[in-house]
Amino acid sequence: MTDRAMELSDNLARVEERIFAACEAAGRKREEVTLIVVTKTYPASDVRLLAGLGVRHVAENRDQDAAPKAAECADLPLTWHFVGQLQTNKVRSVAGYAGVVQSVDRPRLVDALSKAAVSAGRELGVLLQVALDAEPGEQSGPGTRGGLAPEDVGALADTVAAAEGLRLDGLMTVAPLAGPYAGRQQAAFERLMEISSSLRAAHPAANMVSAGMSADLEQAVAAGATHVRVGTAVLGVRPRLG
Ligand SMILES: *Cc1c(COP(=O)(O)O)cnc(C)c1O
Repeated sequence: MTDRAMELSDNLARVEERIFAACEAAGRKREEVTLIVVTKTYPASDVRLLAGLGVRHVAENRDQDAAPKAAECADLPLTWHFVGQLQTNKVRSVAGYAGVVQSVDRPRLVDALSKAAVSAGRELGVLLQVALDAEPGEQSGPGTRGGLAPEDVGALADTVAAAEGLRLDGLMTVAPLAGPYAGRQQAAFERLMEISSSLRAAHPAANMVSAGMSADLEQAVAAGATHVRVGTAVLGVRPRLG
């Protein structure tokens, strides 16, 4: 193994141990939690190494970086998750490689994704990104991490469920830095689980709950997350903001 392969293998093993321990502490089975490795800012060669180490889900947050990486890695058995704020003019590109778009937070984006999925002849999984610090009717503002208010989830879920080419898979959140949940990751993730319960009452198949990153995956697993998105703890501290 190269040094980089060794490093990724060690990091992955440590993250795996953390997920396993968190599942055990929560009385959950390890298979209930899927690891998504966030490869943003890292090269396609790392994605290839990760695939060789058994990773099957990767995530990116910028189409201009993700599109060429996904093309270079098209031979690998990977599902690509898009987790960044998405402009409608990037939707056509994203629909070409993403299996799941986790950051859907407004009706215009749903329309654009639906058209793009249909014209690409693909079905796209969709997660609604919930901003636990947003007020009803607003997405959390520009420069923030995106997401819609909890009160707006039901209506947008119905829109996605009715849209051709899209499959409503569930919810995603990033623990808020501001508002009543700032610094209270576990409470934030428990709130997301409550929102997920009401979503599933109307859309039983939309049972994905994507929460938890390198710093707070334990809290997410404890709350009931089905997917954790881990970047830094696997790949190292990112060379630039992303
Ligand atoms: C970058 C990113 C992650 C991973 O964050 P780390 O702290 O590096 O684990 C998870 N989710 C989203 C939406 C991200 O943008």
